[in-house]
Amino acid sequence: MAVVTAAAKIPARRRVTILGATGSIGCSTLDLIRQSPEAYDVVALTAQTNVAGLADQAREFDADLAVIGDETRLADLRAALSGTNVEVAAGRQALIEAAARPTDWVMAAIVGTAGLEPTLAAVRQGIHVALANKECLVSAGQVFLSEVAAASATLLPADSEHNAIFQVLDTERYDCVDKIILTASGGPFLNASMQEMREATPAQAVAHPQWSMGAKISVDSATLMNKGLEVIEAHYLFPVGLEKLDVVIHPQSIIHSMVSYNDGSVLAQLGAPDMRTPISYTLAWPSRMKTPAPRLDLAQIGQLTFQAPDYEKFPALALAREAIRIGGPAPTLLNAANEIAVASFLAKKIGFLDISTVVADTLEQLLAKCGAVAPGSLTEVMELDNLGRRIAQEWVQKCVI
Ligand code: NDP
Repeated sequence: MAVVTAAAKIPARRRVTILGATGSIGCSTLDLIRQSPEAYDVVALTAQTNVAGLADQAREFDADLAVIGDETRLADLRAALSGTNVEVAAGRQALIEAAARPTDWVMAAIVGTAGLEPTLAAVRQGIHVALANKECLVSAGQVFLSEVAAASATLLPADSEHNAIFQVLDTERYDCVDKIILTASGGPFLNASMQEMREATPAQAVAHPQWSMGAKISVDSATLMNKGLEVIEAHYLFPVGLEKLDVVIHPQSIIHSMVSYNDGSVLAQLGAPDMRTPISYTLAWPSRMKTPAPRLDLAQIGQLTFQAPDYEKFPALALAREAIRIGGPAPTLLNAANEIAVASFLAKKIGFLDISTVVADTLEQLLAKCGAVAPGSLTEVMELDNLGRRIAQEWVQKCVI
């Protein structure tokens, strides 16, 4: 992989920071840390609005710093942590400063492009950064990777598929790779009719059959945009070329991804669908650690099944592939439009099938205007992201139900 530099010396006691600590990934990460409290010092924990959850975590893990993104909640956080030694802060800049506070390892688990600047602040420390937040890599692509290289940071993929590939890909032998195959569960609507999807409610869309995750990624899994974002993420992390990046539907979510080599060998990583396993690999890398994740019982599972993705029923996956093919501003715009469309669906402003329509219409409108040049700086990424959000918002108004 292009972005893992060297196995930096791991101190016996590691300082760790978790951005997005109150979310699904943040809680799974803290659960691993809970297993070996003697091995970790928690430097900073962040959240956006969940004061009570953040304060509980900061107390339990004796964090140096707790930051709430929503500035209006600073007084509540201060009150919730009174009588402790935990320093408190609030606001966007405080989140970025928390990410920049000296530490050894950062989990980047803020959802969406909101995580980009804090994650980059962590990257600039030149430390180990576990990347769960796929949107920041999709949105900032080469800008993000250039920062990783400039800081000699070590980027460790936490997303289960990329973590699986990271475990089985021989990065010295890219020329021997035939295909990288990302598996997809297919989400809650794999076997639903178009009519059922048209009428799908947010509650139905977030009810993922295999994984317990935050609302945004759950909706992305239902549209298969999540797999599309992951193909883009893989395109940046594992430079084999778009034509060698495949997706296969595997509803049991036991095989997390595979690499097919030119001698016919296919190497796969398997495990129970529990994010603590891939997260632990980023925490312990280049070693491994014990986790409380359930062990696989293949005899009990019985069958592993596979099918090709249906690109017509799930156009988001095709849109993401097209965004890679077009390159330039397309991935940034796709991600921005998708964030707006998903938030609008969750707010019941648009229907489930409108999500992909809003993304497609935004891309169609903006690509002609934005040209073919990829953003070259963080400022350009943010400008494009804002433009994509604004136009997607306009398309949302046209779809409003
Ligand atoms: P959640 O929604 O569960 O958690 C998101 C976290 O980010 C929370 O701590 C939340 O705080 C915080 N947050 C939300 N909005 C902002 C903001 N604007 N600024 C700063 N912090 C914010 O998400 P997940 O844990 O499910 O996912 C996190 C990331 O990891 C996503 O990018 C997702 O795609 C990726 N990922 C997740 C997987 C999973 O299994 N969940 C698997 C692979 C990747 P608060 O609680 O206060 O709202």
